[in-house]
Amino acid sequence: MQGVPAVEVTSACGYIGAMSNASPEPATIPLLPILIAPHPVLKARARRVITSDNDAIRDLIPRMFAAMYNAPGIGLAAPQVGLSLRMAVVDIAENEKRNPIVLVNPEIIASSQELSVREEGCLSLPNMFAEVTRPARVKVRFEDESGVKRELEADGLLATCLQHEIDHLDGVLFVDHISALKRNMIMRKLAKEQRLKP
Ligand code: ZN
Repeated sequence: MQGVPAVEVTSACGYIGAMSNASPEPATIPLLPILIAPHPVLKARARRVITSDNDAIRDLIPRMFAAMYNAPGIGLAAPQVGLSLRMAVVDIAENEKRNPIVLVNPEIIASSQELSVREEGCLSLPNMFAEVTRPARVKVRFEDESGVKRELEADGLLATCLQHEIDHLDGVLFVDHISALKRNMIMRKLAKEQRLKP
């Protein structure tokens, strides 16, 4: 996929209803706010994207990339912006080169026996990190932004990122993969930081 707008997204047909009443000048759509844990949408299993979602998805994709790049992050799932839909955007931008991937209805169809441990963070748990053990390689089946069915085999950071984003679609956060003790510590620290936020 090419030509994804970086940060500033302009569109005449805003995803937010209020934007449609804007002046004839193309409006700069505000960045999508990212939900912070704990939040019920982040814990819910998202529903599959169906054909009638197409218009909403088309508007949503550039806005999700904009929010992700702005954060900055390497992946963002729709539930993180309050939409309980099975879709996510990913760009691990290796060597500073952008490689945006849109995942609609993604599923892991194979994973390696071999595991890898990697430090993970999440835009919904800002400034919190923990080492998470996951399969080192995965094969993911998904639809792209045009509805074309695709498969992607990944290892390294991309494999971790894909599993992390697909977890979001099932209401699972990276802290659900670590001990209750560590998870509670992180959630308390996060709550405290959020309370202290100006
Ligand atoms: Zn996340």
